Order: sequence, then C-alpha cells, then structure tokens
Amino acid sequence: MNTLADSIFSTPRSFDHFIDGQWHAGRGDTIVRNSPAHGVPVSTVRAGTAEDVDRAVAAARRRFEKGGWANITSAQRATYLRRAADLIGERVDALAMIETLESGKPLAQSKGEIEGAVALWHYAAGQAQALHGETHNTFGDGLLGLVLREPVGVVGLITPWNFPFWILAERLPFILAAGCTVVVKPSEYTSSTTLMMAEILRDAGVPDGVVNVVTGYGDPVGQAIVEHRGIDMVSFTGSTRVGRSAVVASAGNLKKLSLELGGKNPVIVCADADLDKAADGIVYGVCFNAGQCCVSGSRLIVAKDVMQPLSERIVALMKQVRVGDPLDEATQVGPIVNEAQMQRILRLIGTCPDEGGRVLTGGERVPPENGYFVAPTLLGGVQSSMTVAREEIFGPVLAMMPFDTLEQAIDLANDTDYGLSATVWTQSLDQSMHAMRKMRAGRVWVNTTITGGPEMPIGGYKESGLGRETGLQGVAEYTEVKSALIDLGARQKWVRTA
Ligand code: NDP
Repeated sequence: MNTLADSIFSTPRSFDHFIDGQWHAGRGDTIVRNSPAHGVPVSTVRAGTAEDVDRAVAAARRRFEKGGWANITSAQRATYLRRAADLIGERVDALAMIETLESGKPLAQSKGEIEGAVALWHYAAGQAQALHGETHNTFGDGLLGLVLREPVGVVGLITPWNFPFWILAERLPFILAAGCTVVVKPSEYTSSTTLMMAEILRDAGVPDGVVNVVTGYGDPVGQAIVEHRGIDMVSFTGSTRVGRSAVVASAGNLKKLSLELGGKNPVIVCADADLDKAADGIVYGVCFNAGQCCVSGSRLIVAKDVMQPLSERIVALMKQVRVGDPLDEATQVGPIVNEAQMQRILRLIGTCPDEGGRVLTGGERVPPENGYFVAPTLLGGVQSSMTVAREEIFGPVLAMMPFDTLEQAIDLANDTDYGLSATVWTQSLDQSMHAMRKMRAGRVWVNTTITGGPEMPIGGYKESGLGRETGLQGVAEYTEVKSALIDLGARQKWVRTA
C-alpha cells in the first residue's frame, strides 16, 4: 500500500476557504469527500455562503483597484508565475495523490496532469510579456491611434471535477498573466488541489487578495459568483445546463463570459483508415478519464465497409482495458466520480436497447462494489436520433453509427447541438482536410485524439461554449480593449468664433 495514501486515509486533509491571503472558516457546514474508488473520507472543505463570496470579491476588488498586481510590470507577474510553476513541480506527489483520491483518476494519470500543468504555468508566464496592443500611425500628421489591452478586472473562475488541477492550469495563470485578480470556486468533489494551488501562490509571493478560493456547492457559491456585481467576468467549465443558467444569472451587470461546456464529439472512421491504430485511439478517446472528458470521442461514425472489423477490434480492446483501483500502477480507468454520475451513465446505456440499439460489450457496473466502476461500453445499431447519440453521457460509452459517403459522415458529425471536438481517421489527405474543415468543432484531431499543448487554443462551437482558453487567445480573453486617439496639434476648432 502507498504510505502517502495511508496517511490520508487515516487523517483526511482538512481545508478552510482561502481569502485575502488567509484561511477563513466562514459559517457554513463542512463537506466530506469520500474516495470514489475506496468509499472512505479523504478530505473536508467548507460549504461556502454568499457572505464568503462577498468577502472574497471585496479582497480581489481591493487588490485590483489599489495596485500590486494589475499595475506591476508583466515581467514581475511572469516571475511570480514561473515561481509557482516550479513549486508545482516540487509538489507533484502530494498534489497527484489527493487528486486521485478525490477524482478517482489513476495515479499515473494524475501525475501526468500535474506535470503537464507546470508547462501551462510556464507558457502563461511567457504570454504575460507577449501581450501587447496596436498602434495606428495612419491618420496623417495630426492623429495617432493606440489600441490598449487592459485586464478585465475581477474574474470568477468556476471549475468542474473531471480535471480539477488541469482545468485550473488552463485558466488561472492566463487570468493572472493578464493582470486580473480572481475568486475561484472548485467543484465540491475535488477542491483540495485548488486550495493547495492557493498555498503555492502564497509561497511564490503572490500578493494577498490576488487569488481567493471559496469552496462549496454550485448553489449558493457558484451562483453568487455568477450574479455578483463586483465581478467583471466569469470563466465557467461544466455542463451546458449550468452554463446556460450562468448566461442568465450574469445579466445583472452584463459580465463578460467564457464558457467551456459539454460535448457529444464525433469520430469519423473512413474505409481506408488504419483500423488497428484507429481502434486503439478510439478506445483511448472514450475511456481516458473514464470517459469524463468534455472532449471524449463518444459518437463513432464508421464507413459501412469496415464497421464489422472495426467493432470487433474495439470490443477486443475494451475487454482488455484495465479498470480498477486508481492507486494500482497498472490501472488505466478508475471509478466514475460519484454514485449519481454512475447511475446516470447506467440509465443512459439502458435507453439504447429500449430505443432499438444493442450493447456489444460492457454496459454494466463492475466490481469492487464499494467503488463506482463502469465497464468500457460499445453500443451498436445506433441512430442519430437516439438518446445515446444525442446526450453527453460522460462515461466510457461509445455509440456507433454507419455511413456510406464522407458527406453523410460529416452531416452525422454535425448533427448535434454541441461543437467541442471532432476526430477523423483516414489515410487520405483530401478526406482528412475536407472533414477537418467541414466539422463544426473547436478542436479537430486527424489520426490521433485527445492531445494538445499550451500553444493551442481550446473552446467550443455552438452550445459547447463561448470564448477560448490557452494559446495566444488565453491571455487576451481576460482583457478589455481600449481605443485611444491622440491629437498631435492639428485639430481644427469646431465652434466658429467671431
Ligand atoms: P455542473 O455543470 O453542475 O458543475 C460544474 C461546476 O459548476 C461545479 O463547480 C459546480 O459546483 C458548479 N455549479 C453548479 N451549479 C451552479 C450554479 N447554479 N451556478 C454556478 N456554478 C454552479 O456539472 P456536474 O458536476 O453536475 O456534471 C453534470 C454533467 O455536466 C456531466 O455529466 C457532464 O455531462 C457535464 N460536465 C461537463 C464538464 C466539462 O468539462 N465540459 C465538466 C463537468 C461536467 P458543485 O458541483 O460543487 O455543486
């Protein structure tokens, strides 16, 4: 057994909110998080209230207005972010363990995500200094135009449970690089690594009030953030349902919004694809993180001619995926994050036979019984109108549909309210480029899947969201643009004086 895990099982970690550089208990109850793989408590956090949000917003607003962050040089901000990146690197083991125990993801995957986050923090540090405006020296001798980028202000950052530390790293350092201050609300299931990140930023010397964390339930904490008039922008990652409610709730002061929401992501397999490579990529794309990824490839759209050999390969691979204890090094797929999500996945799988499809493999809960494990699942006989082809299942569940022509495949791919990601497997350059250009999604993969880097912007088309995170857009997203025109002594008087 792992000694770090043992010590957390015997003494769960316990956190307060982090506001204005201090731990703050607030008056809310305590939320206990049980490991979804082991069924035992691993951490406790505070159930925040609207009062806690007010306190955090006041601290962030004070710091934003009174100086010490937005007005320091970008080089200074970058230095803080690099220090934070280095400290993350020094604390990988502690961060990864609690991430695994709260989220259920395999320990090796947690370590990979924490290490990957170091690169995101370093990249954002570079972007802090790369951010710039424009000049327009084209108005003749008398006028000069400047386009300034300024931090948008106080940002509310609401994150989900599927990639708690990674999603934080895709947003928080970019928000800070832009010069904004922030109030973060992590998911109540996976709050610890966000609070540990607050500790890291404090240890890196980031001034009090720049980063504040209020834990607790979506309502009231998330709701109070979205509605708060002291917050200028909200970055929300989670379900389309709550994202849509955030649009309404943020209307009070017409906040800027960045939303990364659900997906029902298509995977097209053409008849000329390398079926062995495609099958492995497809199984990875739907099983990684137990299918709890906004970019999971969950709709398989296959050329009729290769449907049989491809589905045989996928079934064989799915049976070999190692589902089990996330602390076991051999495990590839851990449990679903909580019982409600697991029951939802099983219910959605159940709609498939009811609506005329069939379960080709998986489809059920697997032992151990004290964990929420679901077997990798392939569903056949699926039509685009069926529930399993339309709803985001957020589990290791793949719905397979046939096509005759590439145009049909693209129509099926786009036959969804979502537009987060899409994948195509083919050896033809023409087919891959055609599909890449026609599929309405923020991210497209060709002969690979779920890969990326800090340089690449992420976000969704249609009901998958608004705005872009990471890449060159990552920092710009958290800025306002100001046009300034400067008279150089040539302005003629308008009022004709006698
Ligand atoms: P939610 O959208 O409910 O949760 C995401 C975050 O929003 C959490 O921090 C949550 O808090 C918070 N939240 C909940 N209600 C509100 C509110 N009224 N105002 C502001 N913030 C709020 O997702 P779920 O966790 O319920 O998952 C349900 C489904 O959402 C999944 O099955 C999946 O389909 C999708 N999802 C998509 C994700 C993505 O990456 N795109 C990530 C997670 C889920 P808390 O949970 O602490 O109450």
